[in-house]
Amino acid sequence: MRAVIVGNSATAVGAIEALRAVNQSAKVLVVSEESHLIYSRPLLSHYLGGEIDQVRLAYRPSDFYTRHEVTPILETRATGIDTAGRRLLTQDGNSIAYDKLLIATGGTPILPPMPGIDTQGVFSFTRRSDVESILTYLEAHGGKEAVVVGGGMIGIKATDALIKRGIRVTMIELAPRILGVALDSTASRLMTRLLEEAGVRVLTGNTVTEIHSRDGRVHSVTLREGGTIRCDLMILGIGVRPNTELVEDSDIRVNRGIVVDEYMRTSAPDVYAAGDVAEAYDLVVDMNRTVAIWPNAYRQGAIAGAHMVGIETPDAGGVAMNAIEVHGVPAISVGNSNLEDEPGHEFLTDLDERNHRYKRLVLKDNRLVGVTLVGHINRAGIYTGLIRHKIDVGASRSALMSEQFGLLSLPDRYRKHVVTGEGIEV
Ligand SMILES: Cc1cc2nc3c(=O)[nH]c(=O)nc-3n(C[C@H](O)[C@H](O)[C@H](O)COP(=O)(O)OP(=O)(O)OC[C@H]3O[C@@H](n4cnc5c(N)ncnc54)[C@H](O)[C@@H]3O)c2cc1C
Repeated sequence: MRAVIVGNSATAVGAIEALRAVNQSAKVLVVSEESHLIYSRPLLSHYLGGEIDQVRLAYRPSDFYTRHEVTPILETRATGIDTAGRRLLTQDGNSIAYDKLLIATGGTPILPPMPGIDTQGVFSFTRRSDVESILTYLEAHGGKEAVVVGGGMIGIKATDALIKRGIRVTMIELAPRILGVALDSTASRLMTRLLEEAGVRVLTGNTVTEIHSRDGRVHSVTLREGGTIRCDLMILGIGVRPNTELVEDSDIRVNRGIVVDEYMRTSAPDVYAAGDVAEAYDLVVDMNRTVAIWPNAYRQGAIAGAHMVGIETPDAGGVAMNAIEVHGVPAISVGNSNLEDEPGHEFLTDLDERNHRYKRLVLKDNRLVGVTLVGHINRAGIYTGLIRHKIDVGASRSALMSEQFGLLSLPDRYRKHVVTGEGIEV
């Protein structure tokens, strides 16, 4: 059996580890257009901020492929799939035969069309090579002022890293508030204030319409709402969309992402998709959707990898989660946390604005469906468990908001499950 994986990140690692846990004989190949061995994308901002080096950036040791008997085919872009002939086509005109194929191509950065986007000093921020290009640029030309376009997770992470490098940042967000997808309006306001306290100028409801250069390098940007901003560097951190290009000319079903079932199977026989590129089941919203987070990618990769070698472990579904830190203050949101006054939902809120502390729980039918925590996040794991297992918290609801909330506050049956690993009815 020959398993081919396109993409060399969290999904691929999940798939390889699950596959090798039960099967030593399959031939496994990983095709990746990147040249690096597996690294942790969530740590890229710490790499840019100078807090970690390349060694700490690695997600697995350098002998990962040899230990798992995997053949890496790096710096090779897959360009198409011949699903009838079971071959993966590559940019050099060759093709690779597969018995099982996993598409783990992740996300691709959203680059808005704007004049000057190809100017030197304008960067994306999704790959290790992006960070290394930024570092090389800063070393060659220096940089005191930066513009970051995008106030979502990627834009915030880029901003936090630049602050650590002593660079002044103007963040420009098109939506009326930053982190509009990840956080509710109160948490978003707290994070905006933290950014401003760290010296960041946050402009919302605005965007860049043109990038200007001087001596071939970025020098300033024009804003839609008028005015220009000086900058030595610009990072486009608007976000990513599922990287479905590989299947565009195939008969594989694509909605926003590649549509998959509970085993991560696509609509084509023996072709799987998992991670940021896949549209899989989300158990909180009870529908398929893309959830672009690292643990999700690993978990879905593991389900696909196991299924490729005959182990059927259906995915119970993912839960959306966002974790971000600004100026040392962490914020986490889990599940359907971003609802504002939705009928049929209850909201429990505790806000200490001065100390940047905030907690909001969203309940529906006595079950927790979403949580937002700013400042104090140490209960995030327990809340996530309650969401994931759809536990009836009716009996413990008075304790839910308490600072002492913990295992002892939980329903007996769930506590037993956490302690002994026993299954629970939900
Ligand atoms: C800056 C940044 C910070 C993040 N921080 C967090 C965080 O703190 N927490 C969190 O949970 N998530 C975070 N994420 C999201 C997380 O990194 C992703 O959810 C995760 O990387 C998805 O893994 P994946 O394997 O699906 O795809 P990716 O990690 O996107 O990897 C896809 C791989 O496929 C390769 N590829 C794509 N197309 C082809 C092709 N045609 N041929 C060959 N190779 C191809 C790409 O080069 C890439 O190596 C962050 C993302 C970014 C960009």
